[in-house]
Amino acid sequence: MLHITIHAARRMLRAGDIGARELTAAILERIDAVDGQVRAYLTLTPELALAAADRADAALVAARAAGTTDDLPPLLGIPLAIKDTITTEGIRTTCGSRILENYIPPYQSTAMARLQQAGALILGKTNTDEFAMGSSTESSAYFATRNPWNLAHVPGGSSGGSAAAVAAGECLAALGSDTGGSVRQPAGFCGVVGLKPTYGRVSRYGLVAYASSLDQIGPLARDVTDAAELLGVLAGHDPLDSTSVPAAVPAYAQMLDRPVRGLRVGVPREYFAPGMQPEVEAAVRAAIQVLADLGAEVREIGLPHTDLALPVYYLIAAAEASANLARFDGIRYGLSAAAESLWETYRETRGQGFGPEVKRRIMLGAYALSAGYYDAYYLKAQQVRTLIRADFDAALAEVDVIACPTGPTTAFRIGEKMADPLSMYLTDILTLSANLAGLPAISLPCGFDGAGLPIGLQLMAGAFQEPLLLAAAFAYEQAAGWHTRHPTL
Ligand code: GLN
Repeated sequence: MLHITIHAARRMLRAGDIGARELTAAILERIDAVDGQVRAYLTLTPELALAAADRADAALVAARAAGTTDDLPPLLGIPLAIKDTITTEGIRTTCGSRILENYIPPYQSTAMARLQQAGALILGKTNTDEFAMGSSTESSAYFATRNPWNLAHVPGGSSGGSAAAVAAGECLAALGSDTGGSVRQPAGFCGVVGLKPTYGRVSRYGLVAYASSLDQIGPLARDVTDAAELLGVLAGHDPLDSTSVPAAVPAYAQMLDRPVRGLRVGVPREYFAPGMQPEVEAAVRAAIQVLADLGAEVREIGLPHTDLALPVYYLIAAAEASANLARFDGIRYGLSAAAESLWETYRETRGQGFGPEVKRRIMLGAYALSAGYYDAYYLKAQQVRTLIRADFDAALAEVDVIACPTGPTTAFRIGEKMADPLSMYLTDILTLSANLAGLPAISLPCGFDGAGLPIGLQLMAGAFQEPLLLAAAFAYEQAAGWHTRHPTL
């Protein structure tokens, strides 16, 4: 039951084979047993979860008696975890930062509101790199989360708490946020499925802003079907987010079965650069061969501006972060360091409240935006971003999906990259282009390295082509079967 999927749990709940309280209590027991080692959660809300489970059970009993279980909300009684960058009304939301250590939001994010409307119940908030700036969850101000496959290794980041919780059986699925890879990279490191939707597909209202032109909320789940289920609940226009797109929401989970025969799969030559762990390349090439065996037409493609994606991303992300994080001034919410003057209050609050990685980004971003440098850095980066986007437009005119690794290596050891920010940034090299281009992308398990650590296959598609992307992922998943493996803790 600990590694049950949403779709299987829903069937059992509706049939009366398990109760929502029973399921929730079992997951809470699992959290009790393993979270001391994994440390996926920053905040737990067991009373709220059990109370919601009892309400779900009452609705399930009534619907069974009336024969109307098919009309119940899709996630009724399903226990989920939420990354702590996503605002939860009445539940502490820290963003992994001291500056929000005691912040209890007075309003609800749209993603949470939609999950609750769909009947889901929330177990707690998961650990994240501070303000989602990082690739290992080690920059959390509280503690590092560990990889359930090997506790000496990182779970990836910044949604490392969510990925580890899903892999360790500490929730059925979770929400993450992805600015440059923060859903997909930890999904790859922890052997679960992570989906970054098209920019504008899911409302960002209540997602604490890191880099607003790149941020997107996405699900981490046990299989592609569950990721599709969650996207169906999360997606849709929201008047509270002006960047959310008023496009119809397809029934993603009902569209997974489309055949791969004739699907054109592009393999970007730039995404297999030297320095990649050989086992990663071998597993991803074998996965692409599985798609070919299923009838896909595989061809090599070029994304010639790939080598510029990393500097462009880290300029744009830092610039937008420096503007977004200006709101943490010690006056409106969060930590407030009492000081003599207004200026001192700013300095003390931000000096004490932010960790070193966040300060680094704010300084880089403020520099890139400052008078005289704006044209040379931020504007130039935006121009090159257009070229990167054009690469994808050209490639996606010839192929339907793009297949590549999620990252160049499997999960590295805790502490290995903390002293060297650039080597940490390099772990995102294969994920951040999808954010720069606004495209949907998914990571799903495609094997293990010699040390037993999971390897991620990344698929990308054109804007709003999630049905195609998910169908290709589903076909591979069902043929390969990696999603049925779980770590032993
Ligand atoms: N690791 C990348 C960064 O630090 C991406 C993080 C994310 O997607 N939130 O910016």
